[in-house]
Amino acid sequence: MMTVQFTCKNCGSGIHVYPDVHSTLIKCDVCSHEEAVHFDQNQVDGILKDCPGCQRKDFYSQKDFNRKLGVIIFVIAAIISTIMLWVGLGPQWYLSTFIVLYAMDFFLFRRLNLIGICYKCNAIFRDVKNIKEIPGFNHEMNDRIVYSDHDFHGKPLDH
Ligand SMILES: [Zn+2]
Ligand SMILES: [Zn+2]
Repeated sequence: MMTVQFTCKNCGSGIHVYPDVHSTLIKCDVCSHEEAVHFDQNQVDGILKDCPGCQRKDFYSQKDFNRKLGVIIFVIAAIISTIMLWVGLGPQWYLSTFIVLYAMDFFLFRRLNLIGICYKCNAIFRDVKNIKEIPGFNHEMNDRIVYSDHDFHGKPLDH
């Protein structure tokens, strides 16, 4: 089932919800701020066409990459190589640590699912059935939506 993660406009916390045509209000667990939402049958079926938060139709897709994990892997690699250097092992050893961890990172990254994100309100959609129809991030679209409040009505720019 598709899950939606809204960002609380009051405190910035994530609000996780399942699409439900009967829910018209979501509440932030952290600050109790309430936000109006509108779900339709598409979203309940896992189809992303309209944003339940801002009613826009402009989304982009990206890997559900956990940046914290990437940083942790890099820190572990740095610690291991420092220890290796300290105990007197040659550079080929700590170099190989980085290669192994890089491969791990690459493997994890490759396995991650695609998520859909609303340009306008940054709501995040996971397990979207039509994710293949949603193009990747477009800087020009993002700038025009965020800074000049342009509405593309679900028709992405071609380039
Ligand atoms: Zn909040
Ligand atoms: Zn939105």
